[in-house]
Amino acid sequence: MTEATQQSRKEKRRSKKIHLCHCCGREFQFCWNCRCGFSICQECMYENEWGMTCNGITWECPDCSAQNGFGNQ
Ligand SMILES: [Zn+2]
Ligand SMILES: [Zn+2]
Repeated sequence: MTEATQQSRKEKRRSKKIHLCHCCGREFQFCWNCRCGFSICQECMYENEWGMTCNGITWECPDCSAQNGFGNQ
């Protein structure tokens, strides 16, 4: 109702950043992220690995086709 209430509820800690998986729509503390804002969780990445990566070193963003490296977050 009041502005003060909304401001005080602003996030206090940034350590627990939640990512929304664009594939399954669930929230995760860890997701593979692309610079364009696309996120995919470990589970979906594993399921779609055959279509996301061809070498196991980089994965291709389905949104912008950028190459992103594994383990380089
Ligand atoms: Zn997912
Ligand atoms: Zn992208």
